[in-house]
Amino acid sequence: MEINKLLKFLVCPNCNSGLTMTNSKKLTCLKCSQNYPIIQNIPILINQKNFDQQEKKQIVWFDKHYSQFENKYHLENWRISMLNRIFKQKFSKKITTYLDIGCGATGYTVIEGAKQNNWLSFGIDISLEAMIKAQRFANDQGVANKTAFIVSSAQNLPFKKDTFDYISAISLLEHLEDDKKTVNQIKNILKKDKFLYICVPNTYLKIWPFIWPFYYFNDLKIGHKRHYSIKNLNKLLNLFTLKRVIYNGHLIKFLQLFLEKTKIINNKLWWKIEEKDINNNQSGVQLNAVYQKK
Ligand SMILES: [Zn+2]
Repeated sequence: MEINKLLKFLVCPNCNSGLTMTNSKKLTCLKCSQNYPIIQNIPILINQKNFDQQEKKQIVWFDKHYSQFENKYHLENWRISMLNRIFKQKFSKKITTYLDIGCGATGYTVIEGAKQNNWLSFGIDISLEAMIKAQRFANDQGVANKTAFIVSSAQNLPFKKDTFDYISAISLLEHLEDDKKTVNQIKNILKKDKFLYICVPNTYLKIWPFIWPFYYFNDLKIGHKRHYSIKNLNKLLNLFTLKRVIYNGHLIKFLQLFLEKTKIINNKLWWKIEEKDINNNQSGVQLNAVYQKK
């Protein structure tokens, strides 16, 4: 999306006022005069000096992680499965504006939101490395004018109040120091009665104990601050109504991963297992929930 068109959705993450384009390389806040660079058509709407320790650590980790990412756009089965979970909703047809928070280097949620559903799709991530790659993929996939990528912190969302019909936060909340702050901002930029898709790691208490050590080391490696039970999540999202909850990553998923590793699985069997894996049984490692803003 051209920056001029994008501007009407954006605010200064410092003071929530409008922004203006000073020149092709810079946005400036109309109130506090803070400048924000534009790099390769991507607005960098962050103020690094406001970052907490967790954000500083995560930006280094993710820039490194995404710089090693492959340069080809490819939808693996697990991504298609995730998209099905996010997109196949009763309300999907009524969406015009969609945001994925922490969309990563493939930008696949944003790109496919525009491509499959014709939504005006926005993606933010703390990593510039990721946003440059995602934008390149969006160009390649022919959805540059229906998508926008912005470097932003999830704790200071740079969007106007009541902008979005649908927001997703996939594997995001567990990375944040202050998840409540992000939830409050989501509430602010989501329109009334509109929807939020959350995917978080399920609480240790519900999953099989033999998975705990793998889970624990993964948490340390990628900087997870916590896991969630549906009860915790409902408490955090008390200004929303829970509409739907599903779990994935049950024992059968480990069979699928094993078969994938040994390459003795075909596509049909993969999807058969995947279908079985997504259900209401609370022992899955991933908790997915759809909420509606009250
Ligand atoms: Zn400002």
